[in-house]
Amino acid sequence: MSDSIINSISVIPVTATYPHELGRNSRNMEVGRSVLEWIVKADTSDGSSGLTIAQQFMSPRNGGRVSELVLLLQETLMGKRVTDLLLLDGDVAVGPGNDYKTLFHKHGWLSILAYDLVGKQLGVSAVTLLGGFKRRYVPAYDTTLYFDDLRVPEKGVQQVVQEAQQSVEAGWNQIKIKIGRCGTWMSPEPGQIRDAEIVNSIREAVGKDVKLMVDANFGYEGRLDLLENFIMETKEANIFWLEEMVLPNVDSYRAMRNMVETAKTNSLLVCGEVDREPISEIYKDLASECLMDGYQPDIVSIGFSGWKAIENSLEKYNVRTQPHCFFNGVFGTRASIIFGAASDTFISVEDERCAPHIFKPDHFEFKDGSYYVPDVPGLGLEIDKEIYIGKYASNSVVLN
Ligand SMILES: [Mg+2]
Repeated sequence: MSDSIINSISVIPVTATYPHELGRNSRNMEVGRSVLEWIVKADTSDGSSGLTIAQQFMSPRNGGRVSELVLLLQETLMGKRVTDLLLLDGDVAVGPGNDYKTLFHKHGWLSILAYDLVGKQLGVSAVTLLGGFKRRYVPAYDTTLYFDDLRVPEKGVQQVVQEAQQSVEAGWNQIKIKIGRCGTWMSPEPGQIRDAEIVNSIREAVGKDVKLMVDANFGYEGRLDLLENFIMETKEANIFWLEEMVLPNVDSYRAMRNMVETAKTNSLLVCGEVDREPISEIYKDLASECLMDGYQPDIVSIGFSGWKAIENSLEKYNVRTQPHCFFNGVFGTRASIIFGAASDTFISVEDERCAPHIFKPDHFEFKDGSYYVPDVPGLGLEIDKEIYIGKYASNSVVLN
């Protein structure tokens, strides 16, 4: 590997647009039409460049500011050798470089930049660095079905059904539906009944071959009685997984597992996107009690190094990899695809279906519900210079 150093870093805010407006989930107000991607690009002395996004850092929850982001990048990466970012065994990364363990643990998203830079320098895919291709087609699910019956009340249930139909027409054959109307935005009983009505109506509209998942964002917490009603009323809809129906708790999850067994639906129980320090004790408990089938810390926040460590820890529990990837835009989808291609237990990319923006077209083609993953260096993403200059340069920060 050449001895190149990082000699320029850019922060480029880019708006990524959803295929339709997104309403509320069980906890939060409307998502809206778009998400802001905080793209970070690091250029190297040999003319290469690597990418990541600083969503976690810039999140309002973390009080992120551009000035602080720039300072972090300046202090931790500027002038640093690409060679030192990852520990390699041949073409496989076995962990962060010695000086980057703490940094990549705290800012997992920076480890993705490292995989991109090192992959490009070695001329190998980030999939190779992650241990090699386990598959060349990575399935993806549409994650954009929110409480749009409440956003467009004059159409009600039909609005969400229509969005599901449009998703299938656009090529998706896996769809996740937000539920948990019983939690905040509706009275408990009518909210649960609406949840079931929406799932059953979508199943009827899209046919039996489309995978349907549901995500309650804890909307059934404290109402296991209503959760049982929901599971029984939707058992014919064959729900593939139940996500965060209630807060993680061994007793609640055991009760939920019993409900699923009674309904004979085989729905998987997945959770963990709220785990900021994975793997927290409660999720270890759920895993060791065989009550968690898929685990979901965010792919970008935790990063590739962190997720590799999680996969190693989960191996003995037979828990599948199902990283959260919402608010990560176009870049996040690519990061998930890459990780999924290298993972034995990965289930499906959480796909926001954002329209292309600043990246050049490439060969990661979406077809029949899966993304094809070509064997190209790094993440295979490249910024289109003309689009950058014409649209985004004026709001970017460039460090030299
Ligand atoms: Mg979720």
